[in-house]
Amino acid sequence: MKEGKLVIFSAPSGAGKTTIVKHLLSRGLNFGFSISATTRKPRGEEIDGKDYYFLTNEEFKKRIDKNEFLEWEEVYPGCLYGTLRSEVDRICKKGQNILFDVDVEGGSNIKKHYGNRALAVFVQPPSIEELENRLITRSTDNKEMIIKRVEKARYELGYSALFDLIIVNDQLEDAFREAEEKIRAFIGEGAN
Ligand code: ADP
Ligand code: 5GP
Repeated sequence: MKEGKLVIFSAPSGAGKTTIVKHLLSRGLNFGFSISATTRKPRGEEIDGKDYYFLTNEEFKKRIDKNEFLEWEEVYPGCLYGTLRSEVDRICKKGQNILFDVDVEGGSNIKKHYGNRALAVFVQPPSIEELENRLITRSTDNKEMIIKRVEKARYELGYSALFDLIIVNDQLEDAFREAEEKIRAFIGEGAN
C-alpha cells in the first residue's frame, strides 16, 4: 500500500484554520482528520471523539507517561493539547492521508518528525485586529481568553517562515481555493 502523506494546518487561534480544514474535509479528498486530545471543555456543538477527545488532566497526564503522544503542548496555561500516535495509525490503516489542525509549535514538531512526507501550512490572518474581531464574532471564548489568544498570536506570527506554505486567509473563498489547489498538488490528486 502507498504510504500516506500528512498535511498540517497551523495558525494562531482565530485565523480560520478550522474553517479551512472542515471545508477541505468536505471536498472528497482522501483525508482522515487527526482528532486531537485536549483538557479544555467542549464548546458550542463540539462532540467528543469527533472534534476532540476531551480528557481530564489526570487522563491526559497518564497518556503522556505511557508515551502515547506523538506531540503535546500546554497551548494555553492549564490547557493541554496533543496528537495521539493511535490517531496516525488509525488513519494510515484506512489508506488515507492525514490532516492535522494543531498549534504552531505542534505543527513544526510534526513537520520535523515526518520531513518531506508532510506539508506544513501556516494560515495567516490579514492582521491582528482582524483576528481579534474573528475571535469576538466566533463568541466561543470569554474576554480573558480572547486576550490570551491574541497575545499568543502576536508571538506565533513570527514562526510563519518555518512552514512550507503560507495562506493568507482574507477572503475565505480565495483561501479555500488556494488550500485545495496546493493540497491536491501535494498528494497528487487532480482537481474535481
Ligand atoms: P481557528 O481554527 O484558526 O481558531 P476558526 O476557523 O474557528 O479559526 O475561525 C475563527 C472565526 O473566524 C470563525 O467564526 C470563522 O467563521 C471566522 N472566519 C474564518 N475565516 C474567515 C474569513 N476569511 N473572513 C471572515 N471570517 C472568517
Ligand atoms: P482550540 O481551543 O481553538 O480548539 O485550539 C487551540 C489551539 O490548540 C489551536 O491552535 C489548535 O490548532 C491547537 N491544537 C489543537 N489540537 C492540537 C494538538 O494535538 N497539538 C497541538 N500542539 N496543538 C493543538
